[in-house]
Amino acid sequence: MGNTYPLLEVDLSVIKRNVDVLLQRCASWHLQLVAVTKGFLADAPLVSLFYHSGIASFADSNLENLLKIKNLLPPGIRLLFISLPMKEEIETIVVEGITPFVSHWETVEALNLEAKKRGKVVPIFLALESGDAREGFLPEEIEEMGDKISNFSHIHIEGICSTLACLSGVLPDERILQRLVDFKEKWEKKWGRKIILSVGGTTFLTLWEKEKEIKGVDEIRLGEALLLGNDISRGKPIEWLEGGAFTLKAEIVEIKSKEPDRKRDKGFDAFGEINLPLGEGKRKRMILALGKQDSDEHQLCFADENAKIIGATSNYLVMDIEESDKIYQVGEVVQFQAGYGAVLRAFLSPYVRKAYHW
Ligand SMILES: *Cc1c(COP(=O)(O)O)cnc(C)c1O
Repeated sequence: MGNTYPLLEVDLSVIKRNVDVLLQRCASWHLQLVAVTKGFLADAPLVSLFYHSGIASFADSNLENLLKIKNLLPPGIRLLFISLPMKEEIETIVVEGITPFVSHWETVEALNLEAKKRGKVVPIFLALESGDAREGFLPEEIEEMGDKISNFSHIHIEGICSTLACLSGVLPDERILQRLVDFKEKWEKKWGRKIILSVGGTTFLTLWEKEKEIKGVDEIRLGEALLLGNDISRGKPIEWLEGGAFTLKAEIVEIKSKEPDRKRDKGFDAFGEINLPLGEGKRKRMILALGKQDSDEHQLCFADENAKIIGATSNYLVMDIEESDKIYQVGEVVQFQAGYGAVLRAFLSPYVRKAYHW
């Protein structure tokens, strides 16, 4: 028996409009658009939508998702592995013709060895650290590495890449961008051929919003913009895109007036967090059958502003509805707009049913 709820509903028409607007915008900037699929486990209906709208490059941080895309779409699709490979993944990357991001000499050596064994050439992107202190070659080592790696017989350096606002929230600016463009141009001159400068993610759109022309960058990898029309790095929606494509529905399983025992000592909750109650005395609370296993409660938006999320356990979401004028009932299904993390968690949860509609 599969549960009816929780349910994640995906409105494909919203995403289709975002894809079309972004493809147009990228074309005017002479940028390739790469669809990042890690936020929805490269689920087939969305991948197909992207493909049929004209996107031919896909990127994911999980190899399994890339293989799913490869099986789904006709040959000739470009697949970027935007996660540094583990050594167990080297063989699959080479055999399946996937383009990884790399930041270590040893990884490139292993890729080269495997490619030689199989008579193939592996395309790679050299990841450059640009201030977010996540993955990438350091500025002081990249020069030497570029030279060394370009001498490998079975490696083809397709380009260089950088990712910002992913871990430390460091936003891109013109100075960071110019450094990347300078690198690219220097190597193009040295190697006598074009290479690709690939940047991500959505945070770059806000930087470029008012620009007519983007110089030196060749492609942009986008996830959040396509799916949610939002830029979480700046905590705001992108005005010329649409949100609201992902609705998470859950059932109310308890409504009672309660208060946590204030006299007793308190520790942390089951997940090491502290969930403070609102106000004083007994307050009306409702419990939904929607837990941390299914969603990220920090990225759920509820239409009734007077109902507040208190916290979540693995299987419950607890909300304070004392101040709400709405009447809620046990057995009723309520809905939330889900942000990136909540969408990802819903796709990862076998307990959440997914339904697509136009
Ligand atoms: C997730 C990711 C992206 C996409 O980022 P969004 O902000 O969702 O657009 C791009 N590049 C890399 C390397 C990523 O990990």
